[in-house]
This record gives sequence, structure tokens and C-alpha cells, in this order.
Amino acid sequence: MAVPESDYWHALPESEVLSKVESSELGLSESQASERLQRDGYNRLNPASKRPWLLRFAQQFHNLLIYVLLVAAIVTSIVGHWVDTSVIIAVVVINALIGVVQEGKAEKALEAIRDMLSHQAMAKRDGSFNSINADELVLGDWVRLQPGDKVPADIRLFRTHNLQCDEALLTGESLPVDKHPGFVARELSLGDRTCMLYSGALITRGQGEGVVVATGEATELGRISALLKSVSTLITPLLRQLEQFARWLTVGILALALVMFVFGWVVREYGILDLFLAAVGLAVAAIPEGLPAIMTITLAIGVQHMARREAIIRRLPAVETLGSVTVICSDKTGTLTRNEMTARALVTRQHLIEITGSGYDLHGVVQSAAGIELELESEPWLGKLLRVGVLCNDTVMLPGAEGKAPQGDPMEAALMVLAYKSGLDVGLELQEWQRLDLIPFESQHRLMATLEHNHSGQRQISVKGAPESLLDLCTRQAIGEQTEPLNREYWEEQLELLACQGMRVLAVAHSEVSELVTSLHHEDLQQGLVFLGLIGFIDPPRSEAIHAVRLCQQAGISVKMITGDHLETAKAIGRMLGMSHCEAALSGSELEALSPEELQLKVQQVDIFARTSPEHKLRLVEALQAKGEVVAMTGDGVNDAPALKRADVGIAMGIKGTEVTKEAAEMVLTDDNFASIEHAIEQGRTVYDNLKKAILFILPTNGAQALSIMAAVVLGRQLPITPVQILWVNMVTAVTLALALAFEPSESKIMERPPRPAQEPLLSGFLLWRILLVSIILVSGTFGLFVWYRIEGAEIELARTVAVNTLVTFEIFYLFNARYFLQCSLSYQGFFENRYALLACGLLILLQLLFTYSLPMQQMFDTRPLDWVDWGRILIITSSVLWLVELEKALLRHFFKN
Ligand code: ATP
Repeated sequence: MAVPESDYWHALPESEVLSKVESSELGLSESQASERLQRDGYNRLNPASKRPWLLRFAQQFHNLLIYVLLVAAIVTSIVGHWVDTSVIIAVVVINALIGVVQEGKAEKALEAIRDMLSHQAMAKRDGSFNSINADELVLGDWVRLQPGDKVPADIRLFRTHNLQCDEALLTGESLPVDKHPGFVARELSLGDRTCMLYSGALITRGQGEGVVVATGEATELGRISALLKSVSTLITPLLRQLEQFARWLTVGILALALVMFVFGWVVREYGILDLFLAAVGLAVAAIPEGLPAIMTITLAIGVQHMARREAIIRRLPAVETLGSVTVICSDKTGTLTRNEMTARALVTRQHLIEITGSGYDLHGVVQSAAGIELELESEPWLGKLLRVGVLCNDTVMLPGAEGKAPQGDPMEAALMVLAYKSGLDVGLELQEWQRLDLIPFESQHRLMATLEHNHSGQRQISVKGAPESLLDLCTRQAIGEQTEPLNREYWEEQLELLACQGMRVLAVAHSEVSELVTSLHHEDLQQGLVFLGLIGFIDPPRSEAIHAVRLCQQAGISVKMITGDHLETAKAIGRMLGMSHCEAALSGSELEALSPEELQLKVQQVDIFARTSPEHKLRLVEALQAKGEVVAMTGDGVNDAPALKRADVGIAMGIKGTEVTKEAAEMVLTDDNFASIEHAIEQGRTVYDNLKKAILFILPTNGAQALSIMAAVVLGRQLPITPVQILWVNMVTAVTLALALAFEPSESKIMERPPRPAQEPLLSGFLLWRILLVSIILVSGTFGLFVWYRIEGAEIELARTVAVNTLVTFEIFYLFNARYFLQCSLSYQGFFENRYALLACGLLILLQLLFTYSLPMQQMFDTRPLDWVDWGRILIITSSVLWLVELEKALLRHFFKN
């Protein structure tokens, strides 16, 4: 069969569509699907073409410093300094190669993470719906879509229920459009083809079913996707800021080099060539050319670490923002709690019932408060109640290791388990009662309802939902087999009792309806519903969430629970989690009554918000932000997207979350676990720390090199380090020491300090001071030792070799200082914890030995072998930086108490 080509799927009658794609309402069989997959390929868009290797290499040369070096290479070649020319060119090329490799690694890391967010689709295969990887959808697949889904391919609709979708990506139309089956005129444009769903659109409401008519590049999105493809760039606001800073610094340094040139020429009467080389040396020494690459790598490593701890970053700036988060607003169910529900209590008008057993194990007993087991045969009212739970339920019972295992929403699964425990014949009930229609659960109404009929023609509506919602709908209640007027106070009292124990409470109701009712609408729930009872589920807090809440509190981050659950349940769970301000909880309706100003006052004192709807989340984020807070907000439902977009860091749930929420989020949690947010924040803080540490390490070493050259010119002495030697030092330290800091693990007290103020400049007063202090130590040691050797009568080449090795050894010692800002580095951990640092030091020592003792290097860099005495002096002088900076840290710790 050839792939059917049609631009007019929207204009064909349904039967023709099905025959063209060779499918039916039963969908495809697995074997048909795999044949078609082989024939048409995966349902994905080809990735944007990458920049070719050579172009990436060439782009490395687009850098002011490289231009300076190339001019230096030309000048040195004109005057016949061939060795210098070739060293400069070699260094430039090696640097470019390193740049390409590092950039490639960082981009690959991000790509791998992007692939981790696979997209699922509900397709009918071999007659039943299964969740499959959207990549594996093929032409003719019968798919079902629900709110929050991202349309996985181009689909012709056959069945819809209130279906609405957002096609902004394709049509630019930002309002959701209604969709329904039935072909439309051929000439209509994309936006008006109401019977089609196009790949990339988002389902905002209702449900729909239809058949796949195009996949991958053949979809409408594939046709326009050239516009959408963009190569990811490793850029964040902070990096941009830094790049700008580096550019200004470069210009400043070039100006300084010019001043030095003029000064040396007019005042010191140096030769033009010497001065030129000194000026180039100064530029090379002072410009922190390795910094941007280190920054990018630090960021990429941070993102990888987060992915390993179940947090996937979708937008890079979030890595920086995470470090300054002051408030986390979290959902309760599944994020703070385990979402492993077990029905524990059942309340009717006459009975208080306990349920034993745990988890999804089907063993357990339904018994009265006095411990007497209840038999369904003698208690028909119990069967009625449990039947509602089974019918108004989308769980599938799959054959498991020990009997049957439920698959679906955990609370619905728990209802199934409850039915099994009581002895209800679930299979028989499901056979007898066929579903005709349904109102799916939406957090706005907090209920789900189904309409079903049995073989004897009876029809009934089964409803389950939040007790408040059902109490508003019911006028009568069941008492045994009879009914009586609703006693609202009784149910509210019982609800409160269950909720105070931290139980999630669900109410069930039902009504019998006439045979004429064929579809279900919210109005149908307004008449004749009978309240049957309450079911209480336990959903214990995650133990790791309890720990994470405590860590957040220590780190000055307040944790707020925003839940759709009952106020008392939320408070009880809040207490179990050790949250603060549990008693001052606020409900959605109370929140609604507050003006924005009042809410801003309240929001900082209250940590629990219950019975909220998604719109409340948006108001809460806005109120918190108005108070200057940096907010991380979690969400899963389709209506959470605006709040996630508005939050500083929007966090979507990977398991429970809809595609719409993931699309709106900066970060996706693959395990839906609150503890992963805490880890990500810790990592965010670490990345920022490591960026600062890289600066703290690189700038003083650049400063010291530049100062030594300037000091030489000002004092009228020979340069302690030649420009090519400086190039060498910069190259070898950039690939070893500075890179090691990108792998630096978190400081032990990282979650004991308050969040970083969002506006804090990267180069704080402390950083500038430390840079100055270290520059002075390094330049005194290097220049001092050089002058000492010269006074002692050593030849210039030897004195320079000593100076270069002094500088490099200083950097090795200083690397260990730079590992912690204020914490003491003189410990086992300080020296051995970061094995990359040790590896980098080892490699650098090896390179320095080559530089000093190998003949070709001696010729290239004009170096001389050193003896034990030289090394002894170097070690004594250079270890000073370790002691002095540690002393400075101790003084700072003493005077500023952290
Ligand atoms: P969150 O995850 O935001 O902390 P939640 O999951 O507890 O909150 P919702 O999912 O909005 O909040 O549920 C609110 C209430 O709606 C629940 O307390 C429950 O009574 C009811 N409910 C939840 N799921 C269903 C469902 N599938 N069918 C019927 N009612 C439900």
C-alpha cells in the first residue's frame, strides 16, 4: 500500500477517510502498525541541521583576542621570529579545537536530556486503548485525546465531546477553537477545518477520537516546521551579561596595552618590537578568554546533574533562577504525598466502616467499627455504594503477579481494590452495566459522572467527587435501601472527622434515570441524585518530602501547599510534613473574597491553600511576586499552564502532568516528587557557585600575569614571562585547573544559606576583593622570584622558567582555596573530594615538566631545566597563597559570621 496523499482529509466523508488509510474504528493490529512504521518511518520531525564541524571550528576564531594574536603572528613572522609565530598559531588552533570539542559536549548533553521527555499517545491497538510512544504512531491508528494532550499527528476526528483545542502554533489564533466530526468544505483554511486536529495543537477541553491521517514530516506542522526549528543555544541572561562584561574588559585591556606601549616607548625607550610583544603579552595575559567556555560547561554539567536527579530543564535560564528561588508552591497529591491511595474508611447514614489491608493488595476486610465483617448479601446498600465506585471509574484491572493489578488514577484504583475486598464481582458488574456517556473529572467541578444501562433496560447515573460538590447537587440521602431528605450537617461533620486524620475524602451518589436519557450533561446532575456515602483514603506523605521540606526551611525557602483537596486534609498532611503556619490555612473561596492587596498581605503568612482551582494559583503567584518573592510553582493540569508560565520557575509533573503543562514549564520532574525540586534548587545554587568560583579562579591569575608585565615595563625591566609563555600558561591552565571547578560538588552548607537575591551582581564586593588580594599575592611571588634570580645573576631564560613555574604552581595551590568561598579548604575533603581537581593538577604537573625539561619545548619556549633548589624555592613561595587565603577566609568567617 502506498502512503495516501491528500490535502483534503477534512473534506472527505468518514468512510472514505477510513478506506484511504485502510483502518477502522477498531484501530490497527500491532503487526499492521509495525509494518506501517517500517514503511513510513517514525512520527517525528527531522532535527534542525547542525552547523557543520568546519563552520563551528571557524567560528572559534571570531573573537577579539584571536584577532590580536593573529596580528601578533603576522608581525612576528615579518620580523623573522618564526618560533614565536608558530607557537602563536599552534596555540590559536589548539584553543579553537578545544573550543569545538567543549561546545559539542555541552550541546550533546542538552540534546540527550531533551530526548528524555518522550511524548505519549493513547492509541487503539489490537482492539484496546494503550498508551504508546507518540513516535510510534502510524497512519490509520485510532487515537483518543483528552484535555492537556498535545496532538501527536494529524488526525481526522470521528467522535468528540465538548472538544476544544489551541492551534496557535499553526494558525496564530490564540483562542481555543471548537472541534466536531463531519467533513467541511474543501477550500477552507487550516483554522476552519473543524473536523481535523493538527499535530502540535493542544487539547484544552473535552475528549475526542479519530484516525491518524499524517505523521512526521508529512503533517502540516512538518511542512511549516522549517520555521520552528531552531538550534539550541547555550545562552542564559547571566552568560550574556558575562559575555558583555568580557567584551568590555577586552576593550579596556587593549586600551591599557596601548597606554603601556606609549609609556614604554616615550619614558623607558624600549625597542618597538619588544614593546609590541609586551603589549600583546599584556592583552593575552589579562583577557579571560577561557571564561565563556568554562561558564557554558558549568551550566551544561549542572543541567546533566539535575536530569540525573529527575529534574529536566526545558529552558536554560531556569538553572540560574532556581538558585534564587524563595518560595516553592507545590501540589499535594503525588508531589508531597505518595499518591498510593488506600481506602480506609466508609461512612453511610447508619454505618461507620473500616477497611483493612494495604496498597493495591486485594486482601483485606470491610468491617464495622466493632470489628464485624460485612457481607454483601446481607448489606445490599453496601453493594450499591461500591458499584458506583466501580462504574464511575476508568481503571483497568490487568493481570498482575498476584492476581489482578489496577492501572489508572490511584484513587480510582483504590476504589476497585475496595470493591474486590468487599467481595463485589467487579467483572460481572462491568459486563452488566455498559457505559453510555461520561463527564470526565475536571478540577473545576471536582466530580466525575457516568451514565450506564444494563441488559434489562435500566439506566443510572453514577457520580463521585468532592463531598462539597456532591452535597450541593443532592437533595436526598440513602438510608439502607430507602432514601430521606439530605442531612448536610451530618455529612459535613463526618467529612471533617475523616479529613482531620489527613484522609482524602470522596463522596458517591447515584440516580436512576429514564430510558430516554442517552447522553450526560451537568444539568442532568441537578435532579434526583441520592447521596450514598463518604469514602476516606489515606495517602501518606513521602518520607523524602518531609526531609526536603525541612531542608528548604533551613535554606530560607518557604514551602506552600496549593491543593484541590479539603482544608482539613491539607492541614493534617501539612502537619505530617512539618510545614509551618499549618493552622492559618486558607480555602479557595476565602482566597477569592480577598482583594489583590489583601492577598499580598495574607500570602506570606499562610502556607496551605486548599480547595483551590487553577485560577487561584495564578493569583497566588502574582501576589507572591508583588512581594518580591522568586516563585517556583508546580502544576499538572491543563489549566495550571498560565500559573506555570507566570511563575519564575514553572515546574510540570512528568508522570501526572499533561503535555500542555510540560510545554508551559521551565522544568519537568520525571518522578513528580517534591524532593526533586529541592535537589534541583540545590543544584541551581551549586551551578551559580561554580560560575562564581570559575571567575574567582580565572580573573586573579589573569590579573597577576598582566600585573607582572606592567610592573616590568613600568620598572624598566625585562619581561618576567614572554608572550608565548603566557599563551602556554593560559592554554594549559584553561583545560585543566579552571575546568575542574565546573565539576565542583555542592558546598556542604549550601542549603543552610538564604537564597541569593535575584538582583545580586555576579561580581560582588567580596569577589572583587578576593580577586585583588590573590592577584597581588601571585604577582608579588612571581615577579619577586624573577627579580631575585636576576639579582643573583641567573640568565634571563632561567629566571623566566622559574617565573612561569611559579605562576602555574601558585594556580595549583590556589585551586584548592577556590573550591570554597569561605569554608576552610585545609581538610581531607578540601584536597581530595573533587577528583577532577586532582586529575587536573596531575596533568598540569606533567605538562609543566615537559615544558621545563623536554628539548623541543625548551627550544620553542626558551626554557631551561630547573634543579631541586629552584623547585624548593618555588614551592615555599607559592604555597603562601594557600595559607594567606585561608587566613583571610578565617578572618572573614570570624568577623562576618558567615
Ligand atoms: P493537588 O494534586 O493539586 O494537590 P488534588 O489532586 O488533591 O490536589 P484535585 O485533583 O483537584 O486535587 O481533586 C480535588 C478533589 O476532587 C479531591 O479531593 C476529590 O474529592 C475529588 N476528585 C479527585 N479526583 C477525582 C476523580 N477522578 N473523580 C472524582 N472526584 C475526584
